[in-house]
Amino acid sequence: MPAEGTDRERLRRLMEDAAADDADWLGGMAAGTNYPAGEDVLEVSKEAYLRFFSTNGLLPDLFPSLARFEREVIDYVASLFHGPDAVGSITSGGSESILMGVKSARDRARLLHPEITAPEMVVPESAHPAFTKGAHYFGLRLVPVALGPDLLIDPATYRSAITDRTVLLVGSAPSLTLGMVDPIAELAPLAAERGIGFHVDACVGGFFLPFVERLGDPVPLWDFRVPGVTTISADLHKFGYTAKGASIVMSRDRDVFANQPFRFGGPARPDDWYVTPSMTGTRPGGSIASAWAVMTYLGEAGYVDRARRTIGYLRRWWAGVEAIEGLHVMGKPAMSVFAITSTTLDMAAIEAGMKARGWLTFLDTHPVPALRFMQSPGHEPHVDRYLADLREVADLVRRGELSGDGARARYT
Ligand SMILES: *Cc1c(COP(=O)(O)O)cnc(C)c1O
Repeated sequence: MPAEGTDRERLRRLMEDAAADDADWLGGMAAGTNYPAGEDVLEVSKEAYLRFFSTNGLLPDLFPSLARFEREVIDYVASLFHGPDAVGSITSGGSESILMGVKSARDRARLLHPEITAPEMVVPESAHPAFTKGAHYFGLRLVPVALGPDLLIDPATYRSAITDRTVLLVGSAPSLTLGMVDPIAELAPLAAERGIGFHVDACVGGFFLPFVERLGDPVPLWDFRVPGVTTISADLHKFGYTAKGASIVMSRDRDVFANQPFRFGGPARPDDWYVTPSMTGTRPGGSIASAWAVMTYLGEAGYVDRARRTIGYLRRWWAGVEAIEGLHVMGKPAMSVFAITSTTLDMAAIEAGMKARGWLTFLDTHPVPALRFMQSPGHEPHVDRYLADLREVADLVRRGELSGDGARARYT
């Protein structure tokens, strides 16, 4: 800390200097960090964030505005996810929403299945790492299920991973890396039969798939319409297009939700002296207000419109990738989350070539080396340039004029 304070003009310059090397996330099309949906949406989000900058969601009595925003967002989402009795809470992000899903299922099993002393959870290997984190934090054993050759979960394999110690089953809608929706309609009933939890991770798809469905495109069922689904996570700060620090975790009904909050109070203090629905205490009011403001601003029509624009350029993009010799889109993505790979070209060399041209590509290594994408409506102006570069880089790699750093060895 400097001994004396810093004048604001200099401070501003210091911040600009510090930001000089930050990534050009929009022009470089960084996957999974920003979700541009238009300048107007950004302005609405910022205005709401700043207006409620100093408020705290921990204290709904002091800030009935935030309590109302949160209630209304939960109502919007309950209707979007077809949960007439659904309730939930806004969290700081997808990881926290997932942690709450794990904690809630564990505590519900303690009530309903007290004989289970060493609880387990069954999780597709394509699921987000936050489930492994949740298993670690809350003392569950994680039982991973491998994907089949079609990159989907085989329900029979999944069923065989369930034991009499299982308290939670997990599915993604869609998965983080391949954008494929697990067969939730076949998996969740397995949880209903056993009276255990089923968490759908719709962190990335929760505010996209419902609008694809509105457009008339087929989407496998994944929400509360599927019997057995008990909790759902969905990120407001992804395809909800709201300020960072906002996700939602929904429970099918109040009985399920009752296992989520933490209460501290009595006997020396009132029973509700400190009650939190999730991991954090203080919750920034800005992100709650931004979530409400962006949803109210866009309305369903605004989200449908952005899904339509994104799907429109995606089809062009996927066709462009398939037209490049040796490159393929993996599996059958349900939305703008997908990966491209090759059985003949060195994907690390492709990544190096694209990086050299300024693209913020991300190379994943499992189950095969692949470039990963998570694209928003605002990326559209950059797609044709991306495809042109990809074609040139793939040609260079095919001709042996560009090599990676031994990624071939990583092929399975
Ligand atoms: C982003 C994401 C998460 C975690 O979200 P954070 O907000 O980064 O914590 C979980 N699951 C899926 C499928 C995601 O895409």
